[in-house]
Amino acid sequence: MADCIFCSIVAGDIPAEVVREDEHTVAFRDLDPQAPTHVLVIPRRHVPDVGSLALEAPEEVAPLVAAVRAVAEQEGVADAGYRSVFNTGAQAHQTVFHAHVHVLGGRAMTWPPG
Ligand code: 5GP
Ligand code: ZN
Repeated sequence: MADCIFCSIVAGDIPAEVVREDEHTVAFRDLDPQAPTHVLVIPRRHVPDVGSLALEAPEEVAPLVAAVRAVAEQEGVADAGYRSVFNTGAQAHQTVFHAHVHVLGGRAMTWPPG
């Protein structure tokens, strides 16, 4: 989709530190990391949020979740524990309206989140 920064990363038009990719997903390091490991896992398909992905292409949801797990293992944070976050909508601090999962690890997390 035009004017979508994550579509531009999928297309290779904007550089990103890609750590994993497959048929359905691309994973790259967040520009402003909030933990020692902070990777964004996104569907190649442009949808505004994960709920829309479930409605438009339910067969792509499992690959997205599997990619999160694969990234956590690859980053070495799977055993200690990591957080997977979907911010959905403005009040939840979603700023990029192309579905993405934050994968955060490498430090202790607090709960509840702020
Ligand atoms: P949100 O706030 O929408 O849940 O998360 C969007 C994330 O995308 C933010 O953590 C932000 O740092 C990251 N981000 C925004 N623009 C870029 C970019 O051009 N490259 C990368 N690697 N991350 C980005
Ligand atoms: Zn997009």
